[in-house]
Amino acid sequence: MGVFGGTFDPPHVGHEAASRAVIEALRLDQLLLMVANDPWQKSPSRPITPAEDRFAMAEALAEAIPGAKASRREIDRGGPSYSVATAEELLDEASVAGQPAPELFLVVGADLVPELGTWERPADLAQLVTLVVVSRPTTVRPPVPPGWRSTWVNGPQVNVSSSMVREVLARGGPLDGLVPEGVIRCMARRDLYAVGR
Ligand code: ATP
Ligand code: MG
Repeated sequence: MGVFGGTFDPPHVGHEAASRAVIEALRLDQLLLMVANDPWQKSPSRPITPAEDRFAMAEALAEAIPGAKASRREIDRGGPSYSVATAEELLDEASVAGQPAPELFLVVGADLVPELGTWERPADLAQLVTLVVVSRPTTVRPPVPPGWRSTWVNGPQVNVSSSMVREVLARGGPLDGLVPEGVIRCMARRDLYAVGR
C-alpha cells in the first residue's frame, strides 16, 4: 500500500505525474493521497486552505489516476499530521482485523529527503515504512539518511508546485497545464482561491 502525504493546497500536475510514476514503478494496487489535517511545518508561516476543501480537491485529483484514492484519515484523527501516527494506525488496523501487516510505501518528493530528520519520531517511522523517493526537478537525487529502507522512482520531472499555483491564482492567471481539469472544476464549485470570480 502506498501513502503519498501532502498539503495539496492545491493538488497539481506534479502530484499527478509523481503518483502515476510511483503506481507504475512499484505496481501498487492502491496509492492513498493522504491529506494533512494540520501541516504543522507549514501552518505557522502561512494560511492553509481548510482541510475539507483540500480533501475535496485531492478526491478530484484521485479520480484522474487509476489506483489512487484520497484518504481523510489524518483529517478525521485531527491535530497535527504526523506520518508516523498514520503508519502506526494502518498497521494496527490490519493487525486488529487479523490481516497480515501491509507493506507500507511512504512516497516523498526528492525535496523532502533532507528534512526527514525534522519529522515526528523519524527513527520509528523508518522502522515502519519503505521510503519511495520520487524525482522532482527542484532537487538533484538526495542521499537518503541511514536507517531508512528506500527506493528511487525516476518520474517525469514536472516543474510545478502548489506555491507556484497559488502565485498564478493570485495574479488571476490561467491554470491550464498546472492543475488537472477535475481539480479546477472542484475549485470553482467550492469557490476556492477566488477561481471563477
Ligand atoms: P508547496 O509549494 O506549498 O510546498 P508542494 O507543491 O510541495 O507545495 P505538497 O502538497 O506540499 O506540494 O507536496 C506533497 C508531496 O508531493 C511532497 O512529498 C512533495 O515533495 C511532492 N511533490 C510536490 N510537487 C511535486 C512535483 N512537481 N514532482 C514530484 N513530487 C512533488
Ligand atoms: Mg513543498
